[in-house]
Amino acid sequence: MAGTHAFLSASSAHRWLNCTAAPSFEAQFPKTTSAYADEGTLAHSICEIYAKRKFGVNLDRKKINAELAKLKRAEYYDPEMLETATTYVEYLVEKAMSFPNSPYVVQEIKVDFSDYVPQGFGTCDCVMIGDGKLHITDYKHGKGVKVEAVGNPQMRLYALGALKHFGAIFGDTIKTVSMGICQPRISEYPSEEEMTVDELRAWGESIKPLADAAYNGRGEYHSGAWCKFCRGKAQCKARADANSALADFKDFITPDKVAPEIAKLPQEARAALGVPNMLTDEEIGSLLKQGAELVKWYSDLQEYALGAILEGKTVPGFKVVAGKSARAFSDEAKVFELLRNVGYTDEQLMEHKPKTLAGLEKVIGKKQFGALLSDYIIKPMGKPTLVDESDKREPYNAAAADFAGVT
Ligand code: SF4
Repeated sequence: MAGTHAFLSASSAHRWLNCTAAPSFEAQFPKTTSAYADEGTLAHSICEIYAKRKFGVNLDRKKINAELAKLKRAEYYDPEMLETATTYVEYLVEKAMSFPNSPYVVQEIKVDFSDYVPQGFGTCDCVMIGDGKLHITDYKHGKGVKVEAVGNPQMRLYALGALKHFGAIFGDTIKTVSMGICQPRISEYPSEEEMTVDELRAWGESIKPLADAAYNGRGEYHSGAWCKFCRGKAQCKARADANSALADFKDFITPDKVAPEIAKLPQEARAALGVPNMLTDEEIGSLLKQGAELVKWYSDLQEYALGAILEGKTVPGFKVVAGKSARAFSDEAKVFELLRNVGYTDEQLMEHKPKTLAGLEKVIGKKQFGALLSDYIIKPMGKPTLVDESDKREPYNAAAADFAGVT
């Protein structure tokens, strides 16, 4: 989970497989860490302890409990981490029980996938092997974006590394590989993929040329959704070129239906030729798709420029100002003391509000919360939200929304 990263890390494989130039380009930008990353590392360490307590043998319980107590004093500790670690271990138990015979279970195994990716290595959170099957689990603490296991190159590289690692013991008895991503803060259902060892190895062979190009600095730039975590995303010229080309809307409107010369004509001339002046729904769909990356890129540019100006650099045409702020009391306790002294009652000064569902769940604990309150929990359908058609959620159903929560 923690530790140094390879030049072509498994966690960034989605990026370097799509943009083979990225690793060399990124190398010139310093590696940074964030509170989210530190929080994730801490949550991983707690998961590791919970998993050891469940599956370990001959454990020094005293030592393990002392380690846990130390983690609970860490800066980013949140009691929610104990719940997510419990969910992680519950998933591991469920997986272990799905094997016909008790599997061999091991935590935190450093694996080497350099047969496919130069100098590639990484750490598997948990590996289970038995009855011809190898299962690896990866815990993710993030709650922003759901990470899917299907087609996930990070998981496949870990699986290739795990196959190599345990090949000496299990030989070629392992025929299938399954991979599970447990991301309890975003979904109670882990995402999984299963494939044969032959399929996995064929995939590994297929990415070798890309890994080689990325490693040797012979890669090609290709921008897309994978730019999101690239350290050079704001200053990358290739990404800028791709996105600034999108600003020319004329290239994207009615390309299939109207000749470019007609598309460029003023509206009156188009109308005279019987070409509609309104965007069709097809055109709007096409513009929305092309514009999605443009919006993300623009926001990355803004973030970069803000940081650069705060560091004392000049970004022509821009400056940094203080944003809007709301009035606040400098000393809240003193304010209330003063108001009480002049005769205001607590009834006038205080609000007594029930906690939110999530707040109560935090106080009561997930299990007890479910046991006591499951009959009272409804899940109204969310507001209609426009997403890309590749999104895995079911399409919005207005009729079902009308009856959501009605029993
Ligand atoms: S920003 Fe995107 S296109 Fe540029 S190097 Fe990074 S991943 Fe490649």
